[in-house]
Amino acid sequence: MSARVLVVDDIPVNVRLLEAKLSAEYYDVVTASSGAEALEMIKSAPLDIVLLDVMMPEMDGFEVCRRIKAEPATALLPVIMVTALNEQSDRITGLEAGADDFLTKPVRDMALFARLRSLLRVKMLLDELRLREETSRQMNILRDIEKRDELLHGQKVLFVGDQPEEGELIASIFKENSHTEIMTDPGDALAKALVEKYDLVFVSLSLSAGDPLRLCSQLRSNLVTRHVPILVLVEESEPDQITKALELGVNDYIMRPINVSEARARSLTQSCYRRYHDELRGALEKSVDMAFTDGLTGLYNRRYVTRHLASLAQSKGTDDNDTALIMVDIDHFKSVNDIYGHDVGDEVLKEFSKRLQLVVRGQDLASRLGGEEFLIVVTNATVENAERVAERIRNDIASEPISAATPSGHVQVTVSVGVAMPHSTTETPDRQLKRADVALYEAKRGGRDRVVMAA
Ligand code: GH3
Ligand code: MG
Ligand code: MG
Repeated sequence: MSARVLVVDDIPVNVRLLEAKLSAEYYDVVTASSGAEALEMIKSAPLDIVLLDVMMPEMDGFEVCRRIKAEPATALLPVIMVTALNEQSDRITGLEAGADDFLTKPVRDMALFARLRSLLRVKMLLDELRLREETSRQMNILRDIEKRDELLHGQKVLFVGDQPEEGELIASIFKENSHTEIMTDPGDALAKALVEKYDLVFVSLSLSAGDPLRLCSQLRSNLVTRHVPILVLVEESEPDQITKALELGVNDYIMRPINVSEARARSLTQSCYRRYHDELRGALEKSVDMAFTDGLTGLYNRRYVTRHLASLAQSKGTDDNDTALIMVDIDHFKSVNDIYGHDVGDEVLKEFSKRLQLVVRGQDLASRLGGEEFLIVVTNATVENAERVAERIRNDIASEPISAATPSGHVQVTVSVGVAMPHSTTETPDRQLKRADVALYEAKRGGRDRVVMAA
């Protein structure tokens, strides 16, 4: 992940130290030696994250952070405060200034990279969301950003650890409508996590009842839980365990004794990540949906059905191709528009599609090729059952008028249907479709409201 990091510190040797560590990990580093200089740089160049020293003459780190967070253009830029003292009051002041996380001097590599990774993951998703926001305007997430704390509301949290008072402490981070489940056995915890949809999981790395790292690895690899953020609780004396946990894909760690402000900041980062991740996935599914379905009827569109046929042909091989194509076209549809108007025409197409979907069941697929022309793909078909499906469609439409906003409250339409079975073992879907079309044309010529089987 090549990200651009701004290191701010008034002492040159501190700057150089961090710069060296970060460059070695291929981060792109820029530096500033005062708060004022940092603010200038943030304004002029795009950055991904800021590492900010607290103790600086003139303008201290808290003030710099406050200004970054007060400016809408930079409010979402992640800031990590680097504090000399491990003091509770510093953390609280930092949080109030809007800091996203903390590091204590001397800065340890593991801590530095864990925190950078967590915050950069969030930033990447957020940038992606903003990009989409610019084109689609559908997302309300950016409007919520001011109320970031609300990400700690309504959370379902799992705490796995031996010390119930630690569990209570973690529970106190989460507000309104949140619930924290406290468990001691990793096996039970895994079983529970596979059923409940947790938003966050905390795992103590010292469990008497089993192996906590194994639990982390199982959570990461299971399909149901693989996206859930995991934070581990560790002793300062066990850096090897932290390394192992991070290698297993744990998102972050919290050192004992737990500092509530710090734990809260890290929980918030993970909640943000989770939320953006879900949002982005939702947006992706929606755009995939839009690309493959017809806007008016909700049926699959031509693009989708074409791909579907190609992949069917591929998976079927040549000797057992038994996919029937049923082409359906509404008769004299133009006159529906002419008599009742285009809106009624649209309504008829929608109702018609619903009915079509009810008739076509199971693994068969209904699609709108365009206009008033539809294609049904029936897999594992014999000539007899393809004809039966076609006849069922024709009959269903002919036997009951479609309700629509006309004086009578409905419109009577009929359909013509052309059916093609695979001709030979080597016929392409394209050619089979052509033959269904020819059969359909024959049905029209023969007087409409009928099914014709292709030769
Ligand atoms: P035939 O029995 O030969 O199929 O006659 P037809 O009138 O159904 O066929 P034609 O292809 O001449 O006309 C199709 C009509 O479908 C013309 C077009 O205005 C209408 N149409 C196509 N797409 C839509 C749509 O999305 N909404 C509406 N309301 N009408 C549509
Ligand atoms: Mg027609
Ligand atoms: Mg037509």
